[in-house]
Amino acid sequence: MIVTTKQLFQHAYGKYAIGAYNINNLEQCMGLFQGNLASKAPFIIQISKGARSYTHKKMLESMLKTADEIFPDSVFAIHLDHGDEATCMDCIKSGIYSSVMIDASHAPLKENIAITKRVVDAGHAKGLVVEAELGLLKGVEEHVKADEHVFTDPAEAEQFIKESGCDSLACAIGTSHGAFKFKGEQKLRFDILTDIQKRMPGFPLVMHGSSSVPEDEVRRINHFGGAMAGAKGVDENCFLDAAKLGVTKINIDTDGRLVWTRVHREYFCLYPENFDLRPVGKVFMAEYAKFIASKNKKLGSAGQIDSAREFIKKNG
Ligand SMILES: [Zn+2]
Repeated sequence: MIVTTKQLFQHAYGKYAIGAYNINNLEQCMGLFQGNLASKAPFIIQISKGARSYTHKKMLESMLKTADEIFPDSVFAIHLDHGDEATCMDCIKSGIYSSVMIDASHAPLKENIAITKRVVDAGHAKGLVVEAELGLLKGVEEHVKADEHVFTDPAEAEQFIKESGCDSLACAIGTSHGAFKFKGEQKLRFDILTDIQKRMPGFPLVMHGSSSVPEDEVRRINHFGGAMAGAKGVDENCFLDAAKLGVTKINIDTDGRLVWTRVHREYFCLYPENFDLRPVGKVFMAEYAKFIASKNKKLGSAGQIDSAREFIKKNG
């Protein structure tokens, strides 16, 4: 069942966070649905600009439509991750996305508000909901890049939400894109979330760049020929604390890429005579499903699917 992120957020607010997972291909798609169903979790599929151009945007769109038929018990939103205005408008027209993110966070406040408002007006007219971003996350994720954190200012966030009409807001609190998030201890500014929640009670917030970059995953990648020195991510045990402060969506992309890399490096090193892509694909789908299910436990979304489905049916 394809739903909007708004419906999912209303069910989750203050209690748990929904996992937002980026996918690019068929194997990720299958593993994603299997892992969410196995852990009985509602979820968000994120499609980035890079994913849309990796094969063809229509290939992904039809894959997701088909997945909805293959897995009729699933409850999920289809969301554009880090869109510019033109990509948002294209997704709004597509008929398959239920939610888009407009990322104009590099623009000055007034301009960010104006761009976001144009996307909100177009999205709302077609029943889609819109995520926006205020502040900058350090790191690189496809075309999104920043050298330093610019933390979200809570007073500006309040003004931004009111004037742009966005449905959820990605805040910069110290997480970052990519596999190299922290030198030393992680420092997340939960005080920013607390302040925004006080100003805008009930308004859904989003945490980007929240992969945990597990040490064991990195160790196995490096053992089989990888070279990922100093990789470090966000402690997944803080997800539920963030959820209590109004974070309803947590973006996890890098960790999924690590599972792919680890499985493929390991498999072809251990079975050097193999050149069939299917046996390794099967291992990957199962491992990716296991990874998704374990993340959902940390997010608190595991076990919520029936209650979310009923809530959405009742509230429209
Ligand atoms: Zn992001």
